Amino acid sequence: MGDRFCVKPTCRNYADFTLNYDYGERVIAIGPLLGAPAQGSYDLCSDHASKTTAPKGWQIVRSASSRSAPDTGR
Ligand SMILES: [Zn+2]
Repeated sequence: MGDRFCVKPTCRNYADFTLNYDYGERVIAIGPLLGAPAQGSYDLCSDHASKTTAPKGWQIVRSASSRSAPDTGR
């Protein structure tokens, strides 16, 4: 299932995660692979998804497929 590959040029793994940059909030969101590629999002294999680190001033939010939505209330 799935014919989407990790975006890393040297990587030949299938993508398991979708990474999305939110430039406004300076958040990198990593979650389960989206059904369709979206603008500003990148597909990553589990290996590269776990190795992704946030640039200075950014934070990474990882959302597993299990429901663990951090709701701090707004
Ligand atoms: Zn990869």
